[in-house]
Amino acid sequence: MKKANDQEWIRKKKAHRAYLSNEHLFAGIQARDTSMLSAAITLVESQNPEHRTQSDELLKACLPLSGNSVRIGITGVPGVGKSTFIEAFGKLLIEEGKRIAVLAIDPSSAVSGGSILGDKTRMQELSVMKNVFIRPSPAGTTLGGVARRTRETIILCEAAGFDYILVETVGVGQSETVVKSMVDFFLLLMLSGAGDELQGIKKGIMEMADAVVITKADGDNEKRALRAAAEYKNALHLFPPPDNGWIPQVFTCSATENKNIDKVFVLIDSFCNQQKINANFENNRHHQDQIWLKESLKELILQEYFSNQKYAGQLKIMEERVLKGEITSFQAADELMKMYRDEK
Ligand code: GDP
Repeated sequence: MKKANDQEWIRKKKAHRAYLSNEHLFAGIQARDTSMLSAAITLVESQNPEHRTQSDELLKACLPLSGNSVRIGITGVPGVGKSTFIEAFGKLLIEEGKRIAVLAIDPSSAVSGGSILGDKTRMQELSVMKNVFIRPSPAGTTLGGVARRTRETIILCEAAGFDYILVETVGVGQSETVVKSMVDFFLLLMLSGAGDELQGIKKGIMEMADAVVITKADGDNEKRALRAAAEYKNALHLFPPPDNGWIPQVFTCSATENKNIDKVFVLIDSFCNQQKINANFENNRHHQDQIWLKESLKELILQEYFSNQKYAGQLKIMEERVLKGEITSFQAADELMKMYRDEK
């Protein structure tokens, strides 16, 4: 009896694996089957080296089908209204007949294994709509790891025919720079009435924004929101104009009252048209690919170095010499590099 059960288990397992072969996943993605897309993303997120080989092949197959979406980064401090905005904006996109994917990059998941973005039930109405795919941030890895997986997930989502990809992040750390380097349009959501410092938004993040939208411009807050928008508009004028010729826009919106949400849609549309005419759209994506190639190479080199016991031993010896004041840290690094090269 046990043997029969075992055989049945093995048969099921084999059938399941065959079901999740690249051939099946690729066919599922092309057929816009979101459960297959989910399975493919899980494969991409896996740390297992065997899965890595499989997902690399799958990504290669999907690459020619990718690139056709508008990739939008959305950031802002917790509580600014990101999920409420995405819910309203997403619904508008659906009304326009678009298919949308929402991905998250959550720096808190990289640090603590927990998640700011994932803690509550978010985008309840949107999440059950047809033509919507929502995927939370993969937890428990480095920001670099999350970024790589998100970029790869974008490729899979595009191959599955999504027209708009919204990449959401919490505006509290370095994740904005990471998101900026994987999207076409970067939207910064801000609250009125809270100073920049209060919102933890650094000048550098404002500088990256293609549009700044002041949220919750309704009821008593509307006037304050308009005033904040005027202030941010002035602040943006002080920054040097971006190379792509786009003038960042500032306005207010209310997601709960559905005010100006359509303005964001129109704005992004005109941004894409303008950037495509002057070839900056493609140039920006090429530039991003170059950045990611270099970043990935750096990560692989570092990984190779720091995971090798021999180099760890050499590093320890050099550390001791630096701490004893025998050599400077720069000289130590030069020595280590020499040893590394000699080993090759
Ligand atoms: P997130 O943490 O940035 O995703 O913010 P949420 O979307 O969860 O919103 C935080 C709080 O602000 C919630 O209580 C929302 O109901 C509220 N909120 C979001 N958008 C609006 C808006 O347009 N107007 C008003 N009055 N409240 C809003």
